[in-house]
Amino acid sequence: SAKREGRGNFQFFSPAMNAATHEHLLLENRMWTALENNGFDLHLQAQVQLATGRVIGAEVLLRWYDEELGSVEPQRFIPVAEESGLILPLGDWVLARTMQLLAEWQDEGLGALRLAVNLSARQFSGGALLGRLDQLLQQHRIDPSRLELEITETAAMRDPESTRLLLRQLRARGFRLAIDDFGTGYSSLAYLKLFAIDRIKIDRGFVKDIETNPNDANIVAATISLAHSLGLAVVAEGVETHAQWGFLREKRGDEAQGFLFARPMPEAQFRDFIRERAQVPGM
Ligand code: C2E
Ligand code: MG
Ligand code: MG
Ligand code: MG
Repeated sequence: SAKREGRGNFQFFSPAMNAATHEHLLLENRMWTALENNGFDLHLQAQVQLATGRVIGAEVLLRWYDEELGSVEPQRFIPVAEESGLILPLGDWVLARTMQLLAEWQDEGLGALRLAVNLSARQFSGGALLGRLDQLLQQHRIDPSRLELEITETAAMRDPESTRLLLRQLRARGFRLAIDDFGTGYSSLAYLKLFAIDRIKIDRGFVKDIETNPNDANIVAATISLAHSLGLAVVAEGVETHAQWGFLREKRGDEAQGFLFARPMPEAQFRDFIRERAQVPGM
């Protein structure tokens, strides 16, 4: 019995663990309800061309407001969705809604904008992705190059050979591909070059202190120049200050995302934002 196997085993039933399990079950439960009741929303965060500040598209970010729990951060619910498998129907909803949005924009004269969507590791390795994307393309008749798929460095490196094959197929379909949170995993740019990707997104963790931390500044500068030498474009994440923007411009980064340019906002608000200032002001 558990009792006879000694004290150590009781740690499994520690109050902290119970609380974590309880939290997990609670979130999972509420998420299923939200999925059934249209309780999730998409916010869009502008992506801009670094040199000019011009908006070229947006990243799609999942938002969840629950009646009982209030706003729940992706950092809190995405891991639970990943672990429970709920990320599959949820991620599918995100993809479908994003494609629909691209189709709507096309009809509204916003067809030059692209959307970048985050793929979870499970979605990426589940085997159903390619077929589902084909189906959505057919349904919405959009140009696949308007959809960018983001996969984190860590997810990409889980099974590099499968990743390489799937990325090649996605590339052949015409989708854009980006490696997200670059620098937080254990891969090298030279290795990533084996993948058919278009861009890397430098993690906010490196951008945050480029003004004050020479190490981070050097890493970002070197990453940009190495990426370029490999034919990859670079997006800087989490740009919050003019000084950071200036540094990245000087180092010839390609694109940026961050509170300096725009916070994530609801779809409708994003459309207004685009119409009113296709050019981000104050530059
Ligand atoms: P991510 O893909 O790296 O997304 C960027 C995150 O940085 C977003 O957080 C965004 O709001 C935040 N951010 C952008 N600019 C700034 C800035 O200037 N300063 C600061 N402090 N933060 C900034 P968010 O929306 O909380 O999402 C967190 C993570 O959750 C995402 O990181 C992504 O990994 C995951 N996620 C979000 N939506 C989805 C989704 O639809 N599917 C999946 N699988 N994951 C998602
Ligand atoms: Mg992302
Ligand atoms: Mg990121
Ligand atoms: Mg992240």
